[in-house]
Amino acid sequence: MPRKNRRAEDEPQQPLTMPQSAAPLWALVPGVDVRRVSSEKPYRCPGCDLEVRPGSWHLVVIPQDAPDERRHWHEHCWRVELNSTRGRSR
Ligand SMILES: [Zn+2]
Repeated sequence: MPRKNRRAEDEPQQPLTMPQSAAPLWALVPGVDVRRVSSEKPYRCPGCDLEVRPGSWHLVVIPQDAPDERRHWHEHCWRVELNSTRGRSR
């Protein structure tokens, strides 16, 4: 007896889950990709205006609509920035 083809609509919906390991919880901001990276080049952190040392783990913040404007932040500075901007949306 042939099996009836099930339509995609009949499939139970899978909940969308973010991989929590990809980014710290406090880095999950709408419209921005945040990745934890280690780079061989020095960058200037916009939070404290100091250098992000080559080879050190830090965060790169990538606006989804302007990937060229990505910024490299010290983890500490990004956390401070997040705390200071949260709740200041208007
Ligand atoms: Zn910094």
